Amino acid sequence: MKFQTIAIHAGQQPDPSTGALNTPVYFTSTYSYGTAEEGKARFAGQNPGYIYSRFANPTSSALEQKLAALEGADEAIVVASGMAAVSSIMYALTQQGDEVAFIDPVYGGTDSFLRNTLVRAGITVTSYRSDDDFVANHSPNTRLVLWEPVTNPTLKVIDSRKIVSIAKQIGAITVCDNTFLTPYLFRPLELGVDLVMHSGTKYLCGHGDIIAGVIAGNGPLIQRVRTVALKHLGVPMGPQEAYLLQRGVKTLPLRMQAHCQNAAKVAAFLASHPKVSKVYFPGLPSHLGHQAVADTASGFGGMVALDLAGGFADAARFLDNLSLFAQAVSLGDLESLACHPASTTHAAMSAEDRAKAGVTDQLVRLSIGVEDADDLIEDLAKALACLA
Ligand SMILES: *Cc1c(COP(=O)(O)O)cnc(C)c1O
Repeated sequence: MKFQTIAIHAGQQPDPSTGALNTPVYFTSTYSYGTAEEGKARFAGQNPGYIYSRFANPTSSALEQKLAALEGADEAIVVASGMAAVSSIMYALTQQGDEVAFIDPVYGGTDSFLRNTLVRAGITVTSYRSDDDFVANHSPNTRLVLWEPVTNPTLKVIDSRKIVSIAKQIGAITVCDNTFLTPYLFRPLELGVDLVMHSGTKYLCGHGDIIAGVIAGNGPLIQRVRTVALKHLGVPMGPQEAYLLQRGVKTLPLRMQAHCQNAAKVAAFLASHPKVSKVYFPGLPSHLGHQAVADTASGFGGMVALDLAGGFADAARFLDNLSLFAQAVSLGDLESLACHPASTTHAAMSAEDRAKAGVTDQLVRLSIGVEDADDLIEDLAKALACLA
């Protein structure tokens, strides 16, 4: 079946007791197993069956099946947030003495978790500036490598094929944060990546009304992550969020087409504007990573960033004069959003790390929504006209 059909149908059967076509929201913390013998069997893992909603809930299980099908994965796990996905993967698959690598930049929370919290477990964390930097300078002891194929917030492109080829040689686990492109545009597992993760808060949900995380990949790795995420760290997704996320995912292809089209139009407008010193959008043929995305993905996504020569002062004036774009962090919503990463999403990084990663004071990040592109361009033109 094709992606759009899977998005609608996978993981969804009519409810056996009522015929309800939509998966019910199972608001229950526990499940009656009836007899002591059955309880013993379920806890021993002999009888599949629900025990306790921190471990599994039917609404989340249905969503997990849908997401696994969309990523082409054996299995998926849904958790409380994108950060719960990052931390669960790290705590499940690395231990004291291991080396973890990531390619700069990554989402600010991921950066901060790796540099400030994961290191307290006795894990060495090393950042690399690009896919080529990792290829040339990686440590052979790298146990796990994490990257975003289109980075937050600089929209630098990391070629997953290069990372996978090195990781296979040194036996490192590969983890791709696919939040920006989504499985509609890019399926990392098809390139040999071990695990794919998402902030489901963003495009997968699409409506900006929940916080959610997703991890998908091969069965044995997912089993290890599942135990740590759900049983030990205790970060399941609640059933209401699971319901809303599956509802959002059904329209993912429709929304992504609109995000991609609008972002391409906005990027072309910004690229021709005299007050914009640089535009970051992988769909522009001049973008360094254009070809790698064109080769491996079916679209360039809905995120656009730009440099304004005057640093924070210009960024603030520009942002304060937008009216259709909301000034807000997060991304992937129906509404267009704008933010200044250096002072918000990536403020927790040291100034030095930000400079290395290219998260400058000049940079403004736009999440292009699904409004009419002409209205978005008019709003951007009006705010740019306010700059000296
Ligand atoms: C937002 C984001 C995260 C963190 O996800 P939350 O749902 O906010 O916890 C991780 N990675 C990327 C690329 C993100 O944009």
